[in-house]
Amino acid sequence: MRLDWTKPGHYDAEKALPCRICGTPTHTRDYGGLPCDQACAQDEIAREVIGRASAVIPDERMPNAGQINGWMD
Ligand SMILES: [Zn+2]
Repeated sequence: MRLDWTKPGHYDAEKALPCRICGTPTHTRDYGGLPCDQACAQDEIAREVIGRASAVIPDERMPNAGQINGWMD
């Protein structure tokens, strides 16, 4: 899955700040305006989706994160 961060507000050309997830300096900002890599935000959402699906469907046959990413891409 890919987030659309092409709108202004998701990029700060002035300052690279540590990503709130991985700590690597980044110019991109998430929806809350916090420094965050686009890839990290996408991973975070994918993890949330998997977490919710697992809660609703407690099934050990749930696909792993990699398979879900491929399916949603
Ligand atoms: Zn990051």
